Amino acid sequence: MPILVMKFGGTSVATLDKIKRAAKRVGREVANGYDVIVVVSAMSGETNKLVGYVNETSPMYDAREYDAVVSSGENVTAGLMALTLQEMDVPARSWQGWQVPLKTNSAHGAARIEEIPPENILAKFGEGMKVAVVAGFQGISPEGRITTLGRGGSDTTAVAFAAAFEAERCDIYTDVDGVYTTDPRIESKARKLEKVAFEEMLELASLGAKVLQTRSVELAMRYGVRLRVLSSFEEYDPNAGTLICAEEDIVENKPVSGIAASREEAKMTLVSVADRPGIAAAIFGPLAEAGVNVDMIIQNISEEGRTDMTFSCPVDQVNRAKAALDAAKDRGAFNFGELISDTEVAKISLVGIGMRSQSGVAAKMFKVLSDEGINIKVIATSEIKISVLIDRKYTELAVQALHDAFELNVA
Ligand code: ADP
Ligand code: ASP
Ligand code: MG
Repeated sequence: MPILVMKFGGTSVATLDKIKRAAKRVGREVANGYDVIVVVSAMSGETNKLVGYVNETSPMYDAREYDAVVSSGENVTAGLMALTLQEMDVPARSWQGWQVPLKTNSAHGAARIEEIPPENILAKFGEGMKVAVVAGFQGISPEGRITTLGRGGSDTTAVAFAAAFEAERCDIYTDVDGVYTTDPRIESKARKLEKVAFEEMLELASLGAKVLQTRSVELAMRYGVRLRVLSSFEEYDPNAGTLICAEEDIVENKPVSGIAASREEAKMTLVSVADRPGIAAAIFGPLAEAGVNVDMIIQNISEEGRTDMTFSCPVDQVNRAKAALDAAKDRGAFNFGELISDTEVAKISLVGIGMRSQSGVAAKMFKVLSDEGINIKVIATSEIKISVLIDRKYTELAVQALHDAFELNVA
């Protein structure tokens, strides 16, 4: 039997009625002749609640116990989905990560999948089970402890299963009917894209479009998984949604395909560091060791042998960054005058494979922002993206103005 992977996100399993609705879709694919692997998230809001419990109990928590707690939301929906399918006379069984087993490394809270041996589930399909309902987001470490894959990780569970079982397709059911030119919650004129190239989706996801977890796109790209994003609330349509596919299959030829916004950014400046060989290594080495994900970096011109170094990182890592830099200073690794952090910034990014061949995108972006009176704090570019840091309060304004200027509302 061909295998299909269907993933239902938190909003798609938020109530028993919604689970029933999702189960009906699964039943339809079983009737179409598939063996189905269903990957479920926790009911929406559940994981946030569990994370809150952990933080309240233990602010400097043990990551192994964090995983023990936050992985539990998915266990509930996996069991309920299996029961709902059984009530519809569809032979179904639930699987927690460790039962599969979905093997990960030991990086609790952000574990990476290492292997999914398919034998156990395939044996059950061989015995007549039609649907394996897998709890998303969780796995088991080499030490035998439960791990989680980072927020939004059920997407990655789904794609990894599609790769391991050579599924015909991996369908990601969510609360929007596809990938849009930008977050439709920010820009109502956002347009649904029929197709997005893997490279573009990778950038959009890592730059803030949380519709897919970045790692899921990486895996789909590496293993050639046919990945589709579609709504679990709309009527059934076999051609619905957005297909994430190879660049060659894209016909659209605009320089910009999409805009991503990330509000959870911070900008930190080390004032007056010595401008000498090795200073960047001395600063960013300890930050990396402390697990700070530094993104953009700028070094200003130097005056009398001193310079300012500015970088951006996720806003929830500011305290960790401060502690690492202060410790390095105390150790005498390097010196600096002041450490200024701006925690009210957002990153706005334009993404498009068309940028490779069309120039002038950056200049136009800067002009649009300046016409709106928005100051740019940091700029970073790569082959297919341009990102800027701006004041967070201008996030919506910037996205909407750029969406208009690059005419993303029309195909
Ligand atoms: P799920 O719970 O199904 O995993 P998520 O909340 O993680 O769903 O992701 C879906 C959300 O992603 C949408 O509701 C939307 O607000 C947001 N989003 C951000 N950028 C985009 C985009 N470019 N296209 C579609 N949705 C986007
Ligand atoms: N429930 C987890 C989260 O909210 C995983 C997921 O939904 O993908 O992050
Ligand atoms: Mg998600």
